[in-house]
Amino acid sequence: MILFENVSKEYEKGKAVVSELDLEIKDGEFFVLIGPSGSGKTTTLKMINRLIPLTEGFIRINDKPISDYNLQELRWNIGYVLQQIALFPNMTVEENITVVPEMKKWSKAEMQQRVTELLASVGLDPDTYRNRKTAELSGGEQQRVGVVRALAANPDIILMDEPFSALDPISKSNLQRDVAKLQKKLNKTIVFVTHDMQEALALGDRICLMNKGKIEQIGTPDEIRSHPKNDFVRNFLQTGTIALKEDQTIQQVIAAGLFEPLEVTDEIGFYLVPEDTIDALIVALAEKEFVIIKGNEENVIGRITKQQLLTYLAQEISVEQESVVK
Ligand code: ADP
Repeated sequence: MILFENVSKEYEKGKAVVSELDLEIKDGEFFVLIGPSGSGKTTTLKMINRLIPLTEGFIRINDKPISDYNLQELRWNIGYVLQQIALFPNMTVEENITVVPEMKKWSKAEMQQRVTELLASVGLDPDTYRNRKTAELSGGEQQRVGVVRALAANPDIILMDEPFSALDPISKSNLQRDVAKLQKKLNKTIVFVTHDMQEALALGDRICLMNKGKIEQIGTPDEIRSHPKNDFVRNFLQTGTIALKEDQTIQQVIAAGLFEPLEVTDEIGFYLVPEDTIDALIVALAEKEFVIIKGNEENVIGRITKQQLLTYLAQEISVEQESVVK
């Protein structure tokens, strides 16, 4: 079990990006952290294996505070998969997978057996792939090797940070399915970060929706769908299911004509600029009917309403669906 007790993280003094988090992740659970970018998901994840030190509170794994573990032992026993998997390009698939087993001094036979078993379980033929250099693999294949590498030394816990977000839709859904199957079979605890609500609903035993470093709601996909706790959750359910490209900004909403120019020169209160992300716009419009947009000289240039955002997102969905059909 992974237990967060009153955990806070400040990178800068006085500015908590994760605040007073209480969280219990059960053994064998597929636990998804979701939320808009900047909500503190990655920070929360990386505190578990001490890649990021926490500022306040405790994280316990099997009752023992993580600070009491030997760091090497902690890292070896927690698998880790990133979005852009960092495989060693000049090493073979097998060498990449057995980095940690090697350090743990497994025998050659044990390692070979493990590689065979795991490659097969993610749909990569062991004989074809084990001796290939990873630089020769496609993005989807590399990500599969990354998942296998995280599982290689048989850790109880695996942390995954947007592991499938760089993949094309077909590789993504195949790998999602394989990982879900594998997790149930091996009974691992997976903590999984995403900003894609569809992915969260499809994979999670429980989902934790974060916003500004705090938890908005934790529950099973059914609980969240049937009883969203507040407007933020309701709104995220509607809009967060669209896998927005990270680099999309408000500029694109303006360019789509979903914008009302305003002539006022001065407006007090909350505003965004065209260079802000669409994620930021979604968060702002969860609580407001419209958002003021300012230009370079802090002058008001117009506003975007909730309806205009929804129209923009609906257009995005149809574009995405068309590209999937093709
Ligand atoms: P998410 O994973 O939800 O996108 P993060 O945990 O990456 O969110 O970031 C939460 C907040 O902490 C963001 O505002 C981000 O800019 C800030 N942050 C993340 N890493 C650092 C860092 N190393 N130094 C300072 N601020 C950081």
